[in-house]
Amino acid sequence: MSKYIFVTGGVTSSLGKGIVSASLGKLLSARGYSVTIQKFDPYINVDPGTLNPYEHGECYVTEDGAETDLDLGHYERFLNQPMSKRNNVTTGKVYQTVINKEREGAYLGKTVQVVPHITDEIQRRMVLLGEDDAYDIIITEIGGTVGDIESQPFLEAFRQLRWKLGKSNCINIHLTLIPYLETSGELKTKPTQHSVKELLENGIQPDILVCRTHYPLTKDVKRKIALFCNVKINAVIEAIDLPNIYEVPLVLHKEELDKIVLNKLKLSGGKEPDLHDWKAFIKRITNPKSSVEIGLIGKYIELHDAYKSILESFIHAGAVNECQVNIRYIQSDNLDERNAVEYLDNLDAVLVAPGFGFRGVEGKLEAVRYVRENKIPFFGICLGMQCAVVEIARHILELKDANSTEMDRNTPHPVISLMEEQKTIIKKGGTMRLGAYQCTLKKESKVAAIYQSNQVSERHRHRYEFNNDYLSQFEQNGLIATGINPGSKLVEIMELKNHPWFIGVQFHPELKSTVANPHPLFVSFVKAAMNYRKAKTAKKKNKPGKLLSNV
Ligand code: GLN
Repeated sequence: MSKYIFVTGGVTSSLGKGIVSASLGKLLSARGYSVTIQKFDPYINVDPGTLNPYEHGECYVTEDGAETDLDLGHYERFLNQPMSKRNNVTTGKVYQTVINKEREGAYLGKTVQVVPHITDEIQRRMVLLGEDDAYDIIITEIGGTVGDIESQPFLEAFRQLRWKLGKSNCINIHLTLIPYLETSGELKTKPTQHSVKELLENGIQPDILVCRTHYPLTKDVKRKIALFCNVKINAVIEAIDLPNIYEVPLVLHKEELDKIVLNKLKLSGGKEPDLHDWKAFIKRITNPKSSVEIGLIGKYIELHDAYKSILESFIHAGAVNECQVNIRYIQSDNLDERNAVEYLDNLDAVLVAPGFGFRGVEGKLEAVRYVRENKIPFFGICLGMQCAVVEIARHILELKDANSTEMDRNTPHPVISLMEEQKTIIKKGGTMRLGAYQCTLKKESKVAAIYQSNQVSERHRHRYEFNNDYLSQFEQNGLIATGINPGSKLVEIMELKNHPWFIGVQFHPELKSTVANPHPLFVSFVKAAMNYRKAKTAKKKNKPGKLLSNV
């Protein structure tokens, strides 16, 4: 039978429940257990696909085409294992099921209520991944903070489930904050005590407390937390602030979190976790041999979470290259023809980010023009690729006012247009081209060499697509379709000839990069940035003035 771990959060949001869940998952799987992680989100949207990234950060897309919370990205990156639509449940999904059943007459004669109908449906979903004993351990992260009105049905469902399954099959880890008061020079445990009281009011006694803190917890502080929160002292785990998230598993292991969890679940400790590759990865990111500056051109740059997977992919790719990738965030709204040089000249590569809608697009086009003309490595993702197509249409193909029909419905040259199957779609939720699709790569293309394969599968999230009516015109002018969907013939990748590295992809490679499997396109792009920087530095050294002074 599968065992269950529920991770809740107290005191404040943003303490990193996702990272703690992913880290624990990593440790348990490194000990040889089969593990998966799911997230229950308390909001009423059916999924985060319709949310503005400013509200919620990136929308993470799974292989099977679910639009999910960005924490699922952490789960994949840590576990190196694909998540599915089953791994993210929202209040919206739960209510939708219950209300649909009510309309079908499934509860005929009964008043439909939060308890038991909603809580029963939550419990059904909580154990869904455990069907057929597919996993030894299932970790469930409950979104939100204990005490929120919204998360109460989830806590009640957990309480009931634990009562049914028994305490040795179902445990709670509560993540809290231990603030430090500068004035008195003390770590304060009271917020944690209050947060545990909130949990107790919901009938839940936590088994383990993971305490976020800026300073190490003294034995006394740990003892105090243990005594007042009714947990064993070894179950008070220090989670100290760290410079990067990938060190969290190591620190939690040192605190013996994995051992204590297995103990509580009455599972044999098994072998010590094999963290050899993980440690090697951390060594590479903490001791880089070089660095590059890469511009990220996007319109949501004020909130870095909006580009989470891209940023993490750069860390993975930087590790392979033993290179520190410094990201320069550039608000595409601010870019224009006159100032492009100021923003972009000192960069070693530029990534034009995905996005929706008109705002910021003209700035993105300017960025493409600048890096194309100056032969700076360019990577366009989704809208980024579409911008490359529009820019080249306008300035090389001389198609005046060429555009995507997303930006200008009446453009005379719709080089990017709505996909055929999208034309009849009116509903916005979950209706994009989503999830994994095959892509055939052209032999002798740069991408075939990068992937070292002619067939790849990548994940998508878009409605618009390259307009094949213009394909031969583009190819005659050097922008080649080097990746095509074998069934629909949709263009998935475009490469510019006579440029050191100019690749646009309609899909989202960032969603598949993990610590164990860094994405080859990001690895190659970082390498191109390193080469560009090297060449630039060599050129500077060879400037005439310098030569003269050497004479
Ligand atoms: N807005 C574009 C489309 O729908 C690109 C989407 C994206 O960048 N994810 O096709």
